[in-house]
Amino acid sequence: MTPLIDPFARPISYLRVSVTDRCDFRCTYCMAEHMQFLPKKDLLTLEELDRLCSTFIGLGVEKLRITGGEPLVRRDILTFFRSVSRHLRTGALKELTLTTNGSQLARFADDLAALGVRRVNVSLDTLDPAKFAEITRWGRLPQVLEGIAAAKKAGLRVKINAVALKGFNEDELFGLVDWCAGEGQDLTFIEVMPMGEMGEEMRLDQYWPLKDLRARLAERFTLTDLAERTGGPARYVRIGETGQKIGFITPLSHNFCESCNRVRVTCTGELFMCLGQEDMADLRAPLRASDSDAGLEAAIRAAIARKPKGHDFDYSRQRVAGQVSRHMSHTGG
Ligand code: SAM
Ligand code: SF4
Repeated sequence: MTPLIDPFARPISYLRVSVTDRCDFRCTYCMAEHMQFLPKKDLLTLEELDRLCSTFIGLGVEKLRITGGEPLVRRDILTFFRSVSRHLRTGALKELTLTTNGSQLARFADDLAALGVRRVNVSLDTLDPAKFAEITRWGRLPQVLEGIAAAKKAGLRVKINAVALKGFNEDELFGLVDWCAGEGQDLTFIEVMPMGEMGEEMRLDQYWPLKDLRARLAERFTLTDLAERTGGPARYVRIGETGQKIGFITPLSHNFCESCNRVRVTCTGELFMCLGQEDMADLRAPLRASDSDAGLEAAIRAAIARKPKGHDFDYSRQRVAGQVSRHMSHTGG
């Protein structure tokens, strides 16, 4: 089978799949408080998600990240994990992982670990319970901390992802770093992205460039750039004093596009070749048109053949140019 290679000679080895648009939180930068969710019939079934992932794995995808919405609120999600985990056992899939808000981890951590999940990314922007309730609208910090503890107890490595928000968690920079050092967790900061149509001005106000965050860190710590790249928008530094690795995800910069090895599929089967572009391919129609995977595979290959070179977010003129109209909860961050 010829592997997936895009027009810029980038092999596509990493797939992110959103399994639901629903969530038990309403983070202000991600969702409106009253979301209109998709009708159930539009969502890919667990069987369709499995066929889709298996087809990508057959085409050379080695790393699969499950996301959402909140992936662990999808009903029967363990059935899906159980099914795709067969590809770990054959060796075709090297890593099966998920991005979660952590609220359901206490319930699922043991099963996920038993199925071969080794790492989870948990999104957590603040360690202050009141601020946590404010930013997630519906979330409770203790539940997430219990989830993280359960994940570690089950043997999962936990990485914390924190969205950097000016005036919100600026004052917690060192608190988050110290907490993660103490807990043996990697930490990655994410620059807030202009997603969706709500709160555009608020987000521009809250935009905290990671170069500023990094400069603040450098006031207290010795930072060494790490060469390590994952093909994604993250760059890493090592903190000399603690030995910790800190990541910076700057999705608005173009500095990672040349090594981009990934594509995303939404919970309705839309394949996005680039997070910052509108172009997509519908995979649900070929999935539903036939029990054979030939049409699906052809649709995937045709889409990869038009994966763009890069994206065009631009904050430079104090307005959001290149803003894409979908929410992160839809595309799967
Ligand atoms: N519910 C899961 C969670 O929160 O981890 C998975 C889906 S969530 C959409 C994935 C990631 O996207 C989270 O780390 C979240 O903080 C991030 N995210 C959501 N909206 C964002 C935005 N506007 N800019 C930057 N990151 C965002
Ligand atoms: Fe839900 Fe994750 Fe979006 Fe927060 S960031 S609303 S937890 S999908």
